[in-house]
Order: sequence, then C-alpha cells, then structure tokens
Amino acid sequence: MPFNNLIGGEWVAGARYGHNLNPSDTADTIGEYAQADVTQLDAAVSAAQAAFPRWSTGSVQARSDTLDKIGSEILARREELGTLLAREEGKTRPEAIGEVTRAGHIFKFFAGECLRLSGETLPSVRPGVGVDITREPIGVVGLITPWNFPIAIPAWKIAPALAFGNCVVFKPADLVPASAWALAEIIHRSGLPAGVFNLVMGRGSVIGDPLVTHPGIVAVSFTGSTSVGHRIAMQCAEHGKKVQLEMGGKNPQVVLDDADLAQAVELSVQSAFFSTGQRCTASSRLIVTEGIYDRFIAAMKERMATLRVGDALAAGTDIGPAASQAQMEQDLMYVDVALGEGATLAAGGTAASCHTGSGNTGFFVTPTLLTDTAAGMRINREEVFGPLAAVIKVKDYEEALDVANNTEYGLSAGIATTSLKHATHFKRHVQSGMVMVNLPTAGVDYHVPFGGRKASSYGPREQGRYAQEFFTTVKTAYTAA
Ligand code: NAP
Repeated sequence: MPFNNLIGGEWVAGARYGHNLNPSDTADTIGEYAQADVTQLDAAVSAAQAAFPRWSTGSVQARSDTLDKIGSEILARREELGTLLAREEGKTRPEAIGEVTRAGHIFKFFAGECLRLSGETLPSVRPGVGVDITREPIGVVGLITPWNFPIAIPAWKIAPALAFGNCVVFKPADLVPASAWALAEIIHRSGLPAGVFNLVMGRGSVIGDPLVTHPGIVAVSFTGSTSVGHRIAMQCAEHGKKVQLEMGGKNPQVVLDDADLAQAVELSVQSAFFSTGQRCTASSRLIVTEGIYDRFIAAMKERMATLRVGDALAAGTDIGPAASQAQMEQDLMYVDVALGEGATLAAGGTAASCHTGSGNTGFFVTPTLLTDTAAGMRINREEVFGPLAAVIKVKDYEEALDVANNTEYGLSAGIATTSLKHATHFKRHVQSGMVMVNLPTAGVDYHVPFGGRKASSYGPREQGRYAQEFFTTVKTAYTAA
C-alpha cells in the first residue's frame, strides 16, 4: 500500500513516490511514500488557512484532550513505532523506543500547556486605564524536520503549534517518511478538525522553497543543517516571517585531570558514538587535559572494542548503521580528511560489513577515535554527523575552555570533573545553549528549553514552556475604566 499525504483531512496520492530503505539492510524496503509537488503544497496551505479561524478560537479543553489522546496512543504503541523508526533511520531499537516515548511525553506535556497559557495585567501610566498583555496563535506554520529524530523533532514542533491554536503544514525529511506518516495517522484519528494538521512529504529541493516563501505561511520552524537553515532565515527575513532554526553542532566534551575516569569514558562513548553519532548534541571533540590523557585514550580504546556494530533491530547492537549511503561516505571521507591533516587513527575508521537478515549489508561505520588533532583542523571545525570523535590534548582547564569555545557552533557542551570550582566556571563561561556536568552532551529532558547559540540556533527556544515564544504572538490591550 502506498503511503499518501494528508491534506485537508484526506489522504491524497503523491505527485510521485519514493522508496524508504532500511539502512541496516538495503534489500528491505519499508514502503513507497508520497512526494508532494507545489500544487499539493498549495492545497495543504489553503486547507490550513480555512481551518484556522475555528481552531484558533475554539475550546482549549478540546485541544488539550486531543493532544493527550495523541500522546497516549504514541506511548501505547511505543514498541511498534520504535521498531519502525529503528528500521528506517538506523538507531538501535532501544534508542528508537526511547525516542518514541519522548514524543508521547511531549504531546502530553503540551496537553497541559494549552491550559497554562497566561498573560499579564498591569496598571497603565495613565490614570483610569488598564493594560492587558495576552498571547494569541500566530496562524499557519510551516514545520520542516531532519532525518535523525524522525518522530521526536516533529513532535516537539507539532505539539506546541497545535496547543497554542495554530494550524500546521508539516514537511518531514524525505529520507525518513515512515515515522512521520505514522504520527500523522495518529493525529488524523485523534478527532482534530480537517485541515488543522497537514502532512506534505517530499523533497526539500522541490517543496522547500515554495513552503518557506508561501504567502499563506506566517512562520517557519526548521531543524536541520546550518546551510539550509541560513537560506531559510534569509527567505523569511525577505518575506517578513517569524523563523526558528535549530542547526548543527560541534559539541565539546572536556575531560579534566581530576575526572572520574570510568565516568568520563562512559559519557564520552555514549555521546560520541551512540545513535551512530547522528545527534546534533553528539560530542565530536574530546578535549582532554595532559595529566589524564594517556589513561583516558587507553580506557576509551578498551571500551570501544566492546561496542557491537550491527543491524539496528538485532538484540545486543550498540551502534546501528549510518542513515544513508551518502552519510556513510561522508563519515569515511572525514576519516581521510583527518588523517590527511595529521591525525592518528586510534580506533575504527572503516566501513563495517554486518550481515543482516537478508544477507545484505547496510551502511555501517566502525566507531572512530582520532588522536593528535588540533583545534584548527577541519575534523574539529566541521560537523561530521557520524560515529567519529577527535581528541585534542590541552594543558589545563583554561586552555580546555578556550578550545571548547573555539568553534562557530554552540549547541551543547560537557565537562567531566570532580572540581566544583571548574564545573561552576564552565557552566557560566562555555558558549553553548546547553551544558552538562558529568553527563553526556546528548540526552536532554522534554519539559525544558532546548537550543543553542552562535551558528547552532536562531530565534526563540524550542520545548518546555519557552515554546510559546515562537508559537504565539503578544497583544497589548488598553482599556479605559
Ligand atoms: P538538512 O539537509 O538541512 O534537511 C533538513 C530538512 O530541510 C529536511 O526536511 C530537508 O528536506 C529540508 N530542506 C532541504 N532543503 C530545503 C530548502 N531549500 N528549503 C526548505 N527545506 C529544505 O538536514 P538533515 O541532513 O536532514 O539533518 C542533519 C542536520 O540536522 C545536522 O546538521 C544536525 O546537526 C541538524 N540537527 C539539529 C538539531 C538541533 O536541534 N540543533 C537537531 C537534529 C538535527 P529533504 O531531506 O527532504 O531534502
């Protein structure tokens, strides 16, 4: 059965269809998924515009109940949806179930947020006048998501958009339409009025520009690469639209001499290699002071030798495949780049051949540790998005902080230390939106703000109650007594 787009409450056949492949096993096709053209995009925006007046002024209780119902179904089906996600994206099944669980919790959180939207009442500077500040929905929003979190990122954009009374045109990444389609199907059956939520699967190169520049779209929330994000920011500025961008990272993990070695190794392995390093919050730069350096490298190599690379659905797999052949080739290309720059290959660095059910192999890369790297090398400046970590040896905490901040990105940063003084200083002075003390740089809560600084983010924060900043607009009302 082909999987179609959802436009105005109807499942609509695509202008064309794309194969959704399992990156663990290239003989396994998950399905044929519709790809919208510009005509279908127009229809989706029109449907959302038509639905907006009633949805934006309707019952808040109905909104809350609907989001709660969506969250409950996601949670009830977490194993099935997690299996689908692991099959199409390549993170391991336990990781995928964790992501689905997070998506369910996000919908339930925003079911509550519908009821908590508050304003302010102030005295006016003019006698006999009152001032009220309220938040209103912004209109029809365009949501564009990447392939690495195929259900959680859509959830953390769709749930607040709907909670605060907006209508949605959602474009997931073409590489991973199955989780997006499954989520859309749950949303469709939740009782939401037709047109409030629309799914337009398809390529960014075909419907990306028309979506962002469409006069019916008032705001765009995007997560993806920095290059596409910048393009969207310029288009939104030109067309006077609100924009929210979450983009790349080059996240530092500092390890100080006084760190608990076992803990430092475990959290570095976790955040550099789990989910195949395909997390915007992954630690790709391990910045290690010289007193612990040799012991840290030896312990990392020992721990990395225990990691099992394989089929995302197989029990016991620690690291699944890269999500696509192009991503695998990019990972291996960066190994060559690093070696060409003078790095030493301490572990991994190769394509791995892991035979899966059908006997076909997918896009596997061994977890890779590169030593003898310097902060200025390309391997430490450009986002790789694979299971690769480069180690930079530094003299002391001060140099570690300097190197950590020496990047155009600023999403997440971590420090492994037993020193309260250094932990406190690092939390204050590292230039990132999120900071972790003795925890992996990846792995965050769903009810607090998520986002970065510098080239990693632009616009208001996502998630938690801060999400209302983007998905509402403020009105100031003056009333004569
Ligand atoms: P990407 O290539 O930028 O694509 C992201 C989305 O944008 C996809 O849906 C893509 O569609 C679409 N797109 C492509 N060209 C477009 C255009 N001209 N106009 C509008 N949309 C367009 O990123 P990706 O490779 O999917 O994801 C990996 C990146 O996401 C990494 O850089 C990672 O750091 C970042 N990321 C950031 C966060 C965060 O919160 N900071 C979280 C996760 C991922 P198609 O794929 O269909 O072409």
